[in-house]
Formats: sequence, C-alpha cells, structure tokens
Amino acid sequence: MNPSESERGTKQREMMAKVPARYSGRAHWAFINVTTVGGVCLCVALLEHPLWWEWLFVPGFFVFANAFEWWIHRGPMHHPTRGLRMLYVRHTLQHHVFYPADDMSFRDPRELFYVLFPPFALPVLLIVNLPIPLLLGSLVSANLAWLFFASVLSYYFVYEWFHFAHHLRQDSWLGRRALVGWFRRHHTRHHELALMEKGNFNVSFPLWDWLLGTMLPEDDGQMGTTGDAS
Ligand SMILES: [Zn+2]
Ligand SMILES: [Zn+2]
Repeated sequence: MNPSESERGTKQREMMAKVPARYSGRAHWAFINVTTVGGVCLCVALLEHPLWWEWLFVPGFFVFANAFEWWIHRGPMHHPTRGLRMLYVRHTLQHHVFYPADDMSFRDPRELFYVLFPPFALPVLLIVNLPIPLLLGSLVSANLAWLFFASVLSYYFVYEWFHFAHHLRQDSWLGRRALVGWFRRHHTRHHELALMEKGNFNVSFPLWDWLLGTMLPEDDGQMGTTGDAS
C-alpha cells in the first residue's frame, strides 16, 4: 500500500533537505549527457578500419546491457547485497520512496538527485565490465573492445533518458509522446510498492522482462495519469 499524501509530502521534504546545497540537477543531467556522448565519440574515433562482422557485435552488446540492467535492478537494487548495499539504499529506499506510482513526476531539477544515477556510477560500471573488453581486445581485436565501450556508454545514455522521461511531467512535450507514455506506464507499474520486487525490471526496452516472464500485467489505464498536478 502506498503511503498517504501527507506522509509522502513530509518524507519528500525530509529527503530534499538532505540533497547537498551545492547540488545542481541541470549540471548532473549535463554531466551524464556530455560524458556518455563524448565517450561514444572517442571510442568511435579510436576504431581502425572496422570490419562488417565487428559491427555485428553491437546488437549483441546491447542485448547483454539489457540483461545486465534487468539483473542489477531485480537483484542488488531491490535486495541488500554485500558490497553493493548503496544500490539498494539509493534505489529502493530513496528513489522508490520518493516516487510512488501515483506521484511519479519530478517538480524541481534538484529532485534529479533522486532520479539519475550518481556521477560515479558510470566509471564504476565501466570498471566492473572491464574484463570483457580486455578479453575481446586480446583475443579478437581492439576494435571490438572500443565497440563494447561505445555500446555500454550508448546504453547508459539511453537508460538515463528513458528513466528521465518516465519521471517527467506527463504534460511536458516529451511526456506527451505516445511511445514515452507506454514506457512510462511500464515503469510506473514497477513503482507500485507491492509490485516493485515482482517485475518490469527493464527500465528501457523490456526485452528480458519479456524473455524471463517478469512483465507485469497492464494496469487499468489510470496509473501514471496522476501526480502531475502540482
Ligand atoms: Zn523510476
Ligand atoms: Zn526498482
């Protein structure tokens, strides 16, 4: 059951008071866009005469990234895990508490502190996945290593844009797009406190939710239509 509106308002105010005074949501959003797009450009610039079959790995890297998104969201982001507890705190105890299913939209750029991954998440993600490009680079080709990095950075960019759009006001220009509406309903269903550990773990394309049977049934059409009136 979701908390009452007054309880939620109090909790949100308490959480906003904990956002560092010098935090800027706009700078955070710009940082994510600049680092991911810049990183992809750098990786592509480092390719040396890529062959057609090397490009064919890119869709595979995206499917891998989609599986990783599903796994890390279903696992450490919703269950305290040794060494990864910060993921659980930031996602389950902060993001989900701040944005219950009937109050999904952020009202102030400073709220992006509770929507976007923290700036250190991207370098950590690249380091965790480092064995893969190292193996590809030593066993196959340096191009595959750069294409892997480019794919992960592209995927991260896409993920953050999807999640940003899910929490945008529904009456914003982007929020009014029909496709954005479908994906937002998918994610809003996951924000139901009773359902958050059960399904819709893909925040972007729900490929692995579909493959692994964790697609939650559609709601009655009302979810995601409230909470934008503030
Ligand atoms: Zn969310
Ligand atoms: Zn979640």
